Amino acid sequence: INTQKKKVGQNIKVVVRVRPFNEKESRGRSRMAVNCISPREIQTKDKKYCFDRVFQPDCNQLDIYSYVVEPMINDVLAGYNCTVFAYGPTGTGKTHTMTGGDPSSLSSLDWRRNEKAGCIPRVAANIFDEIASRKVNDYNVRVSFLELYNEEVRDLLNPDERQPPLNIFNDNKGAVFIQNLNEKNVFNSNDIYELLKQGTLRLDLAGSENIAKSGAKDKRALELANINRSLLILGRVVQSLTEKSNRHVPYRDSKLTRILQDSLGGHTKTCIIATVSPADSSYEVTQCTLEYAMRARDV
Ligand code: ADP
Ligand code: MG
Repeated sequence: INTQKKKVGQNIKVVVRVRPFNEKESRGRSRMAVNCISPREIQTKDKKYCFDRVFQPDCNQLDIYSYVVEPMINDVLAGYNCTVFAYGPTGTGKTHTMTGGDPSSLSSLDWRRNEKAGCIPRVAANIFDEIASRKVNDYNVRVSFLELYNEEVRDLLNPDERQPPLNIFNDNKGAVFIQNLNEKNVFNSNDIYELLKQGTLRLDLAGSENIAKSGAKDKRALELANINRSLLILGRVVQSLTEKSNRHVPYRDSKLTRILQDSLGGHTKTCIIATVSPADSSYEVTQCTLEYAMRARDV
């Protein structure tokens, strides 16, 4: 939803979601490396962390949605910008949390009756319900869907396989804006499901292409280096925001932080969902993720 920008002046909310053991972890007789000791606290062998909320392995999609996203609908309709993003190692449940279910069956289902539905299909339905129940006539809902890969931005709603990477600009009010990114008008939740399906299919195609090409190993290395770099810069941005000094915030050092600039810099209500595995085999990355998420709470 395109809304007017207002200063919210509220901290970033940070929640943690611990997924259940997967098959491999169960077969390998993994042990729990984390312990959810209260609705806000999670304990590892080294440290206890406190977040706005900790979601245990047995929590469901609706639990997450109700806590994280649903309260934002009022804010969005009142003119605030809101951002939700998932952060965590591969295979810990980011896609499950945000999209959920099987993208190929996205359009025809009523996602609210599908317990696997993640935050995006749920909010799509909820926003239009709310608009209808408030009898709002003067609204405009638009959707865009992009991929950030190896420091290049691509429009997932543009069917052109050979589209050049898009440029990021700041408009004359300083807001971040991506040139030529499609913004599709949508009039009901099905319109959104359809775009989500299109974009997801394009994303999957691009993914398998990258793997199929020769030199996949080099590609993987480059990919990892870029991800690490983005996250390093994200960490620096978060760090310099927590220092509350007037020190230069290095938003411009990566595409990720440029895109998230408004979400991190205080003009937007933001919730970060940090996803982790419960298994001791992932202990180190889990610990890193929790440390990272902790720091974001202080912004
Ligand atoms: P990511 O996007 O972070 O790489 P995925 O969302 O693809 O991870 O999750 C990896 C696998 O684990 C998927 O098969 C997904 O369905 C499953 N999964 C993730 N989180 C959960 C959860 N909370 N409950 C059940 N299955 C989950
Ligand atoms: Mg994913």
